[in-house]
Amino acid sequence: MAEFYKQKSQKTIPDLVEKWAIKMNLHPTKITFRKTKRRWGSCSSKNELSFTSSLVQLPPQCIEYIIVHELSHIKHKHHQRDFWLHVEKFMPHYRELEKILKDYSPQI
Ligand SMILES: [Zn+2]
Repeated sequence: MAEFYKQKSQKTIPDLVEKWAIKMNLHPTKITFRKTKRRWGSCSSKNELSFTSSLVQLPPQCIEYIIVHELSHIKHKHHQRDFWLHVEKFMPHYRELEKILKDYSPQI
């Protein structure tokens, strides 16, 4: 089943990332999917984004939030005030989405 969701994520998430990348003018160099235990996504120093294989199973608004979050890391490689202000600019209700995410685990 995990492989099924990975393929589904690979098929649908990159288009969503592209949509936000254009909107935010922040472009990742690579998008990969892998099984993770605790993190929904990450952004490397080379601006390669990685998402959990099960991402596609989350509520759509949470998927969009994780994408905005990771794309924001292309600009800000930390979780300080500047980073959150940037996330808020594109997703004003991100705190609400963070709360919803607490009910889910990347390990599905
Ligand atoms: Zn982060």
